[in-house]
This record gives sequence, structure tokens and C-alpha cells, in this order.
Amino acid sequence: MNKNSSNIMALAATTPNKRETVCIFGTGDFGRALGHKMIQSGYPVVFGSRSTQTSSMIPKDAEVLSHAEAAQKAAIIIIAIQRQHYDFLIPLAEILHGKVLVDVSNNLKINQYPESNAEYLAQLVPGAKVVKAFNTVSAWALQSGTVDASRQVFVCGDNMEAKQMVMDIVRALGLTPLDQGSLLAAQEIENYPLQLFPMWKFPILLSLGLAAFFFIYSLIRDVIYPYVYENKDFSFFIAISIPNRICPVVALILLALVYLPGVLAAIIQLYRGTKYCRFPDWLDKWMLCRKQLGLVALAFASLHVLYTLVIPIRSFVRWRISSRILSQALHNVTEPLNTTHAWLSDSYLALGILGFFLFVLLGITSLPSVSNNVNWREFRFVQSKLGYLTLILCTAHTLVYGGNRFLSPSSYRWYLPNAYMLSLIVPCIVLVVKFVLIFPCLDKPLSQIRQGWERNPQYSE
Ligand code: NAP
Repeated sequence: MNKNSSNIMALAATTPNKRETVCIFGTGDFGRALGHKMIQSGYPVVFGSRSTQTSSMIPKDAEVLSHAEAAQKAAIIIIAIQRQHYDFLIPLAEILHGKVLVDVSNNLKINQYPESNAEYLAQLVPGAKVVKAFNTVSAWALQSGTVDASRQVFVCGDNMEAKQMVMDIVRALGLTPLDQGSLLAAQEIENYPLQLFPMWKFPILLSLGLAAFFFIYSLIRDVIYPYVYENKDFSFFIAISIPNRICPVVALILLALVYLPGVLAAIIQLYRGTKYCRFPDWLDKWMLCRKQLGLVALAFASLHVLYTLVIPIRSFVRWRISSRILSQALHNVTEPLNTTHAWLSDSYLALGILGFFLFVLLGITSLPSVSNNVNWREFRFVQSKLGYLTLILCTAHTLVYGGNRFLSPSSYRWYLPNAYMLSLIVPCIVLVVKFVLIFPCLDKPLSQIRQGWERNPQYSE
């Protein structure tokens, strides 16, 4: 017999064949879905209901009894009922004494009640051990067999043994329990399913605001100005040219905004001489959504790449090239190759390709499945060192694109510079400040502060 099979036998011997009966109060959508999944996982299930009549909707291997009868059959009772109906549990307090009550409930609004539903349940049935769990899993996901949404089940409770029993059930159902601590965490857990991409709100609103601003800006410069002064209709620029100006500009500004809070934090720490003092709230929130800012920036950069790929097949571009060739033929002249221009154009493209490659690499390493497989030093190396390199390459890409046009008066329309010039302001500030911060006279004290040294203890909290 090989080693593996003996291991399997040893495991089988320690795994109990018979699972404990679980009671579910409520034969609604969630109660039935959870009951179904539990029966599939080998748990005998008994439902406690106001009506003891079974129906075709109820899993066929489950018993349906009155609440009092069902509660007596199990040590764990899952309350799959809305909070506003919890009053019916008060007369059952004696039967429920010492039992594990699992609160799965959610509310309609964030912080709808002063206390969490689980704490309310613990007040109503003081003799029971209340555990909060399962509220982030939907009935649909349980019923559809595969849990398509998150497999994580947040669990909290004051009684360790009760919490462990619930976590064992969670594992047996093929889900992942995450211990969130005492019942005080219940309010936060109840708020999770009500939040809509909380970390994405600021990056998305900011990028939409920037995109709207640069759209109007480019419309004025590139469509309205030629129409007013040259009577030329460039309104078709709205389809590709203007979006292809907005995307790189927004991507570069957002990428710089990923690194700006880091340099601001360094300046604050240097000024205060300690790291034991909280940053202002706005800076804390900004730092927390840097990953999302970076991913939105990557989305805009990817769009820029796609728009750039179609440039050669645009009818306007083909018309411009053929009319230049025709004009040379008609005037019997040949434009000599401008090697400076060729150098600028190739360098601009090379910087863009390298910048985008590193940008994609940053995006990939921010995925949880990848970041979970690298240690903290490797993660910091990629996100900080490679991140700054990406910012340098993308800023250089934009600078070289501008080339010698920065100071040319023809690139200003109604005194408005090109949009890409505006996009360079934030990245250049970030890179210059970062460059200053790596000077030993600033880098050394900053490293010491980050290792816990305190130069100005009056700022410590
Ligand atoms: P539901 O379909 O409306 O079922 C609720 C059940 O509560 C009813 O079927 C009924 O069961 C029982 N009930 C209703 N009024 C009652 C009363 N006055 N006294 C005693 N029992 C009463 O709701 P649900 O979708 O299953 O949700 C149940 C709980 O799970 C809620 O707290 C919800 O927040 C939570 N939850 C639901 C989901 C989901 O996807 N649906 C996901 C996570 C959490 P009987 O007729 O058998 O008595």
C-alpha cells in the first residue's frame, strides 16, 4: 500500500461519517436554498416554520416542524427570517437557551438600526450563542449549485466554540469562512452586501470628470477653433481623434495620482518627524483607492492603444498621406527623410510600448491571485520601483510626442495649449518631488522615521 492511500485512510478515519442535524427557521428563499445545499453536503435538516405542511418547494429529505419542535432537534439553528419578525423568538427563549443561533439577515439600508441584527438577536435571546454568518452569500448562488459570486463567508461571534461549529459547516458547504472577530463586527458585515464598489467611486468619478473636461477642451481647440477661423469642418474628430487625445491624457494624470499621495505622505512624515501620527482623512482615503486609480488608468491606456491601432485605416489619415504624395508629384519635389523627426517618432513609439507593457505588468500584479503569491518585498518592488519606472516612461512618451512643438505659437489656439501639455503637470510634479526625496539628506531621515524613530514626539498620537 502506498503512502498516499494510507494518508487517505487516516483522514477517512478521523472524518465523522454522520453530521449533526441543523435546524433552519424559515422556509423562504434563503432558508430553502441553504437547506438544499446542507442536505447535499450530508447534513440532516429540519425546518422550523409557522406552517408544518411540506410543499414541493421544500427539499424532499427535510422535515418541517413547528419552531419549538424543530429547535429541540438541533444544537445549531439558522434564523433565515427578516429582523422585523424576530419577536416570535421571545417565547422560545427557554428552548433556545444554550443553542447556537446563526443570524444570516441583511438590511435594506446601511446602518438602518442602531445595533446590528445579530446583536439585536442576542438581546432578544440572551441565553443563546449568537453567530453572524452567510449574509454575504445569495440564495440564488447557493441554489444554482456553483457559487458564482464570492465564496467568502464572513463569520463573527462572541463564543469561540459556537463560531468554530459554524465555520465547520461553512467549510463543509465548499465555502471559505473568514473569522471577523466578536459580534461587534456584525454591523460592518451587515453593511458589506449593501455597498456598491465603495473603493471605485472616487477613481471612477474623477476619471469621468477629467474625461468630460478634456472632451470639452479638445472640442474647443480642435473642432470649434478651425471652424471659426478656417471654416473647416473637423466634427468627425469626435469619433476617434478626440477620444484618442482624452484617453492617454486621463491615463497619465491618473497614474501620477497613484503616486502623488505617497510623496505627500513622505513630506508630511518628514515635517512631523514621526510616523505615529495619523494622516488627514482625505489622504488616508486617497491611499486606500490607489489600486483602483491605477486600474482605471490602465483601462484608459488600453483604449488609447486600441484607438492608435486604427489610425492607419482612417479615411482622413489615408487622404492626408495621398494628398501629400500627390502634391510632391505635382510640384516635382521629393521630401528628404528628416532623421531628427524619424528619431523623435520612433523614440516616442518605443517609450509608449515599454510604458504600456510595464503598465499591464503592474495591473497583473495587483490581481489578488498574483499578489497572494509574492512576498511583501517583491510586491513593493513591482508596485513602487516598476510603478515609478512606468510613470517615467509614460511621461517621457508624452514629452517626446510634444517634441519641439511645446514652444511653437501655432500649437496654442485661443491661448489654449494642447491637452497633452496639461497632462504633464501632475506627473512632472510627482517625479521632481520624488527625485528630491531620494537625496540622502532627506531619504535617510525618512527611512529612520519609517523604522519608528521619532524626531518630533509632540506630533505622536
Ligand atoms: P423570504 O423569502 O421572505 O422568507 C422569509 C421567511 O421568514 C418566510 O418564508 C417565513 O417562513 C418566515 N417569516 C415571515 N414572517 C414571519 C413572522 N412574522 N414570524 C416568523 N417567521 C416569519 O426571505 P429570504 O429571502 O429567505 O430571507 C430570509 C433572511 O435571509 C433575511 O433576513 C435576509 O436578509 C437573509 N438573506 C437572504 C438572502 C437571499 O438571497 N434571499 C441572502 C443573504 C441573506 P415560514 O413561512 O416557514 O414561517
